[in-house]
Amino acid sequence: MRRDGLSRRQKLAIFRHWVAKIGVETNGRCNRTCWFCPNRFLDRRADLPMSPEHWEVILRGLHDTDYSRLLVWSRYSEPLADRAILERVAEARAAAPQCRVVIYSNGDYLDAEYVRELAPAGVNRLVLGAYLPEGAAFSREEALRQCTALAARCGAAYEIATDTARHVGLRLQIPGLAATVACQDYGGSADTSDRGGALAELSAAKPRRFAPCYLPSWHLLIDHSGAVMPCCHLRSDYPDHVPCIVARLGSGEEEVDLVGAYARLASWRRTAMTYGPKEGPCAHCTVGTRAGDAVTRLSQRLALGLAGCSGSGLGAGFLTSHRARRLW
Ligand code: SF4
Ligand code: SF4
Repeated sequence: MRRDGLSRRQKLAIFRHWVAKIGVETNGRCNRTCWFCPNRFLDRRADLPMSPEHWEVILRGLHDTDYSRLLVWSRYSEPLADRAILERVAEARAAAPQCRVVIYSNGDYLDAEYVRELAPAGVNRLVLGAYLPEGAAFSREEALRQCTALAARCGAAYEIATDTARHVGLRLQIPGLAATVACQDYGGSADTSDRGGALAELSAAKPRRFAPCYLPSWHLLIDHSGAVMPCCHLRSDYPDHVPCIVARLGSGEEEVDLVGAYARLASWRRTAMTYGPKEGPCAHCTVGTRAGDAVTRLSQRLALGLAGCSGSGLGAGFLTSHRARRLW
């Protein structure tokens, strides 16, 4: 038993039951500085490869947990900027044959030949974002033009999947790969994430968050530095988010493996999953918010109370009973 009251076997069982997505960046570099991304002021333009030691911890974790859900290359990098990703994907696929590998990309480095190499390496799904030039007002026609240009560069036929005033999406026909490209209106959108308060002008326009957040229950996000974050909106290279680093991967005294990292997320899960005013980086986050009717709120409070939990916001509501700790 550890100081949190859970044995290794229990932590492994909890990990297997709950973790639905592991997000990684095996190189932190991105070629863009989009206005709706903190990369516009946090420099990611140089190569920032993950160390072999950190990658080895991830591979071992994928194998030891027999991981079979989503493994996503995203975070704040452009995954396809570094062609070593083909090797990294193949290694992950060998470690966890059943997992589903997804790459989010801006498509800047893609051509038809590169696209053809993705599926044999082990990629299942490619999600491409087409962005309008900075400052350009969203128009459905321009969005469609950007999306179809990217499809042409990939050498892919396509069909239109969505076509609305604020979102255009195509389904690409690429053998062995589920691929989409989409362009959406970020400008003035109440839904655009303030990235944990890093984009202060977006926070200012949003109300205080009261809704629960379940991302720290389902996700495990790992930066190129080996730092583990509670959700995809928080990043270890933004000074205000450094206190949110829940663990560092490794074999040193204070370092952990994947299962240990998920266990360290427990305090985030306990506080984020309740209705009530949120603090710090969650204060104005609109990700996954739902109004939540009175019956839902009441039944959740009762359920949490029975489990020994209480709490109304970040920094409050820690589990109070051993029974509840074991449950979560
Ligand atoms: S939104 Fe994506 S492409 Fe744009 S700067 Fe951020 S990580 Fe790079
Ligand atoms: S509420 Fe907090 S934990 Fe949830 S997505 Fe927003 S910043 Fe992340």
